[in-house]
Amino acid sequence: MASRIVAISGGVGGAKLSLGLARVLDPDQLAIVANTGDDFDHLGLRICPDLDTVMYTLADVNNKELGWGQVGETWQFLDALEKLGGETWFRLGDRDLATHIQRTTLLRSGQRLSAVTASLCAQLGVEVPLLPMTDDDVRTMVFTQSGETLSFQHYFVRDRCAPRVSGFEFAGIETAAPAPGFISRLTDIELGAVIICPSNPFVSVDPVLALPGVLEAMQNSSAPVIAVSPIIGGEAIKGPAAKMMAELGMPITAAGVAEHYADRIDGFVLDHRDVQMQSQIEALGLKVLVTETLMRSLEDREALAKAVLGFVEGWRTRQV
Ligand code: GDP
Ligand code: CA
Repeated sequence: MASRIVAISGGVGGAKLSLGLARVLDPDQLAIVANTGDDFDHLGLRICPDLDTVMYTLADVNNKELGWGQVGETWQFLDALEKLGGETWFRLGDRDLATHIQRTTLLRSGQRLSAVTASLCAQLGVEVPLLPMTDDDVRTMVFTQSGETLSFQHYFVRDRCAPRVSGFEFAGIETAAPAPGFISRLTDIELGAVIICPSNPFVSVDPVLALPGVLEAMQNSSAPVIAVSPIIGGEAIKGPAAKMMAELGMPITAAGVAEHYADRIDGFVLDHRDVQMQSQIEALGLKVLVTETLMRSLEDREALAKAVLGFVEGWRTRQV
């Protein structure tokens, strides 16, 4: 297939489909743009959880048991830090720590996050271009129903998503520029589709789409924007997406996700378990692909990637 794909990804859910796409497309046909709204500074280090999850997954060094961090991880550093009375709520394994130290070192030497990410990816043998959404600082803030505003990692890791959310803010987004190459890939006449991976719509995908110029570039392109549902059978496979939907007063369904994205997408990939929602989602003006979207195995990741690419291919022939 000649046309190029831009995939928008958060962490775990996004990395699963990103890996499937990376395995069925040539590296020059794909670019993955990851959310950086979760990034934060901790113990003097810059930590980019979603970029690292995607990078480790593509490099096949991800920890499949934990679902985050590196395979074969040890915790000597954290144990030693605990003895010293340091902050240990954010679990940093010894191998993972090396990534954050190297990233921080390169950032301090004046390199931009996109260049640093490219360098880390090259060292780990990742061939697919992986871009942070921006080189600028954007920080997701979580508004809670108790009136407290939390930084994302305090909400997500320290408080284990317990606070009830009332909304989100992406601090710094108005002045953040999409990373080099992001907009040019969206305006590329060879762009075949933008694929929004099955990631958390509110805290993984919305920050990327909220960057200045991104929606405009997507809307001016003839390539379809297709979102894959992160909700299957009224549940999130992992993480707080379903809990957030309930707290925001939305129906916890794939149709709820489709409605959330409706003005910004052209197509929606619905799990076959939710097929009864197909006409409801089509009524939003979206084309719908119904397929297996639960990715347990590597084969599942490739199969979903192929199904979505087939949907894209059909789109082009239908329009000719
Ligand atoms: P995070 O940044 O690590 O929280 O990860 P993401 O935002 O990329 O992904 C979280 C979302 O991925 C959750 O809403 C999950 O329901 C969804 N997800 C995880 N695994 C799968 C899967 O196999 N299939 C689908 N359709 N969604 C998944
Ligand atoms: Ca994340």
